[in-house]
Amino acid sequence: MSHVNPNPLPLVFEQPKGRGKPPRHLADLDLAARKEAVEAIGLPGYRAKQLSTHYFTRLVSDPAEMTDLPAGIRDQLVEGLMPHLITPVKTQTADRGTTRKTLWKLFDGALVESVLMRYPDRATICVSSQAGCGMACPFCATGQGGLQRNMSTGEIIEQVVDGARAMARGEIPGGPGRLSNVVFMGMGEPMANYNAVIGAVRRMVDDGPEGLGMSARNITVSTVGLVPRIKQLTGEGIPVTLALSLHAPDDELRDDLVPINTRFKVEEAVEAAWEYARTTKRRVSIEYAMIKDINDQAWRADMLGDLLRSYGDWGWVHVNLIPLNPTPGSIWTASDPADEREFVRRLEAKGIPTTVRDTRGQEIDGACGQLAAADA
Ligand code: SAH
Repeated sequence: MSHVNPNPLPLVFEQPKGRGKPPRHLADLDLAARKEAVEAIGLPGYRAKQLSTHYFTRLVSDPAEMTDLPAGIRDQLVEGLMPHLITPVKTQTADRGTTRKTLWKLFDGALVESVLMRYPDRATICVSSQAGCGMACPFCATGQGGLQRNMSTGEIIEQVVDGARAMARGEIPGGPGRLSNVVFMGMGEPMANYNAVIGAVRRMVDDGPEGLGMSARNITVSTVGLVPRIKQLTGEGIPVTLALSLHAPDDELRDDLVPINTRFKVEEAVEAAWEYARTTKRRVSIEYAMIKDINDQAWRADMLGDLLRSYGDWGWVHVNLIPLNPTPGSIWTASDPADEREFVRRLEAKGIPTTVRDTRGQEIDGACGQLAAADA
């Protein structure tokens, strides 16, 4: 990665050595760069726009369907700009087919997962941004295996396009529909793969045929709180929704639950999130996994409420409680419903809007923190 490493833990931010890069894909490039790439393989630049329309607007990757392009150049274009990046290895469904988890194999054999969830009013895809994760949060399945590598923009977008295609073609019960939301809550820490993630966000929000034409507010970037990257995101001028995985209002506990907290403290992370809300006018989401007898005490709810309230009561924040999805071998379990209700009550008493996340796809290990992608 090109940016300066602000962190003393080198592996957290750097691509592990000895790994090749995924082949270049249309989705890695903006339209101008696509023109250059098309010209570089000896074809006129305007073909870039035609190919982009197939991929981003029609969601077509099969050369046989690109009938407006001369047969002789279709394969050349697809080989040059649309290499095969992700291959489905296994799909599992739950919730009567409206939740679908896919295990993907990348070009180098690395495995990642994505989860498509259809609701009455929207369809959301939860995408991975890294193979594995270097953040080592002890309650998260992905965190246990360490980081394998960063994903490319193309590899991230391919997950989104697959979800958009499944919706458009009516593969998910409920008839043909549109993919409306993307959450970076699959495997990986998106802010540790900043450039590729921002590239992917740009491809999602750019109008067709340059991009998918999605609304930035329907894209959520979730982070452990890499403060320099949150600040950088604040300056991008793309009003995505920011989610901060806080999980504890105090440094003592958060040092254990989210180890990067030893580098970026609760107050710094919350302040960066508040600054993000102030600048973008987007309400920030505080993610809080409810872990029985660990972080779910009533006094911690008060402490969290006071902390968030200290930045003002202009609706800059809401709290999203996630019942812990126990990972294999974990000694931790989800909070008791009564404790969860009390936690919500105390936050709301301090004026903090609070929701409890529904845990879709739990039985197919597709819910938050369950993505491990180890078995094919
Ligand atoms: N690295 C990003 C994205 C991770 S997954 C981040 O940390 O924000 C999205 C959310 O699921 C995060 O809030 C994460 O802390 C949470 N999560 C991880 N493991 C979980 C588990 N076992 N149960 C419930 N939530 C979990």
